[in-house]
Amino acid sequence: MPAARLTDSHGRVIHDLRVSITDRCNYKCIYCRTGELGAQYPELSIDEYLRLILVFVSLGITKVRLTGGEPLLRRGLLELVQELARMRTLDGGPLELALTTNGHLLDGLAAPLKAAGLDRVTVSMDAVDAPTFERITRVPGSYETVLGGIRAARAAGLNPLKVNCVLLRGFNDDQIEGFAEFARRESVVVRFIEFMPLEEGRLWTPEIVVPLAEIVARIGRVLPLVALAPREASETARRYTFADGVGEIGIIAPVTQAFCGACSRVRLTSDGKIRTCLFSQVEHDLYGRLRAGARDAELADYILRTVQGKEARHHIGEPGFLKPSRSMVHIGG
Ligand code: SAM
Repeated sequence: MPAARLTDSHGRVIHDLRVSITDRCNYKCIYCRTGELGAQYPELSIDEYLRLILVFVSLGITKVRLTGGEPLLRRGLLELVQELARMRTLDGGPLELALTTNGHLLDGLAAPLKAAGLDRVTVSMDAVDAPTFERITRVPGSYETVLGGIRAARAAGLNPLKVNCVLLRGFNDDQIEGFAEFARRESVVVRFIEFMPLEEGRLWTPEIVVPLAEIVARIGRVLPLVALAPREASETARRYTFADGVGEIGIIAPVTQAFCGACSRVRLTSDGKIRTCLFSQVEHDLYGRLRAGARDAELADYILRTVQGKEARHHIGEPGFLKPSRSMVHIGG
């Protein structure tokens, strides 16, 4: 295996791999999906994901996040996590293993996932009141189900437990203060994420984005916030605790305060394409090479060359901005 580490032509070291293991989802969140079935992309076998991930790890990846679609729908997930937990980074340590989920199936899967070797989960949740949540997910009973999943994850020790909320003005921005209370009550780190133009339909406008500054100001009016220092340069969230030190919230502001300069990520789609940026206009067919019989050294060489060409930054909101060919659910968030 080669000793080269993944870097790009802008001097960034890439150590964080996000792998979508299905683009199917059991939720139809209104800001993400149109509600129609739409295009579906193929899935690789679990062994194929493992082979590709191992090549990435041989190039310096230290953190793998499984996502989708909804990763808990994927058959073979537990076996995949078990095998990933056995892999070793170039430094000889275990991988950092995380998963992003809508939480709908987490109640039954949290403990088995922990036992298989998963370190932590991030649960997506866009409202803290049941009717708003169900209106967004378009699934009856979803709020109670996801809350049960969050509590099961905490009980299983999948910590720190993060809850991600995408805010859209006029849809769920009335939930901001409620989420601050929720973070404290449920002992979870709530992270607000600015809405990006990655939806299946056409909803995004600059005005619908609720910017970081507004979120901080609104929470601060109810519960005074204290900024926390970043733990590492590539940290995407601005973190805050409350004046009494209980609870944590974070704000991820890819639109109003882009962090591309510190990006350490690369993505693999469910059908085995490399995406070097959420907003890439091109994808790189890694799986096609595997299918054609490429050896691991050849796959590694292809990954190294592809990552070299990683985009400097996204161009959201600029004249001429083009949405990527795939939406978030088909890329892997
Ligand atoms: N189904 C899993 C889940 O719900 O977490 C994983 C896939 S989902 C696409 C990953 C994350 O992307 C979710 O937190 C979702 O809210 C977020 N997301 C979807 N569309 C988005 C957009 N246009 N801008 C920002 N985040 C988005």
